[in-house]
Amino acid sequence: MMKVTKNLNVPFSIDSLSLLLLESGAHQYGREPVSQLEHALQCASWAEKNNVKKELITAALLHDLGHLLHEFGDESTILNVDDKHEYRAIHHLKTLFPNAVIEPIKMHVDAKRYLCFKDEAYYASLSPASKASLALQGGVFNEIQALEFLAKPYSQDAIALRIWDDLSKVPGALTPDLEHFIAIMKRCVKLKN
Ligand code: FE
Repeated sequence: MMKVTKNLNVPFSIDSLSLLLLESGAHQYGREPVSQLEHALQCASWAEKNNVKKELITAALLHDLGHLLHEFGDESTILNVDDKHEYRAIHHLKTLFPNAVIEPIKMHVDAKRYLCFKDEAYYASLSPASKASLALQGGVFNEIQALEFLAKPYSQDAIALRIWDDLSKVPGALTPDLEHFIAIMKRCVKLKN
C-alpha cells in the first residue's frame, strides 16, 4: 500500500506538490492500467489540447491529488470506501490557488454523478472501477441534484475536467512531461495579500 505523504499537515508549496506528483508515478491509479502521474499528465494534456485557461489545466493536473493523501493507498474502492479524494487536498491547495483551480477539483466527482444522470451512454462508457466508485460516491444524481449542480459556478469546467479524466487511463499515451505542467501551475499561484 502507498505510504501516507508527510505533507499532510504542512502548507503545500510548488516544490512539495511537484515532488508529490513525481512520486505518484510509482503508484497505480486505482484499478486503472496507468500510474497516478500518467493519469495526471494525460488529463492535463487533454485540457491543454482544448485550449482552456491555465487554471483549468492546473486543476486537471491536480484533480486526484487527494488520492495521494490518505491511508487507503490504491485500494479505497477495493476496500469499499469512498476516500472523498475531491476534498482531501483542498484545504492546502486553497493557500496557493484561486477558485478557478479549486472548484473544478472539488466538483469533479459530482460532475460524474451529473453526467450519469444526463447521459446513459456516458454511464455505459465508464470503466468498471469508475462504476464501482460511483456507487460509493452517492450514485447518479436525480433531477434536482443535477439542476443544483449546474447552477454552481465552475460546473462547466468540472464537467470538462471529468470528461478528460475518463479519457486519461491509456497505458503508454504520450504527453508533455511534468516540468511542462509545473511551469503552467506556477503561473496560477495566487499573489499574497
Ligand atoms: Fe482522475
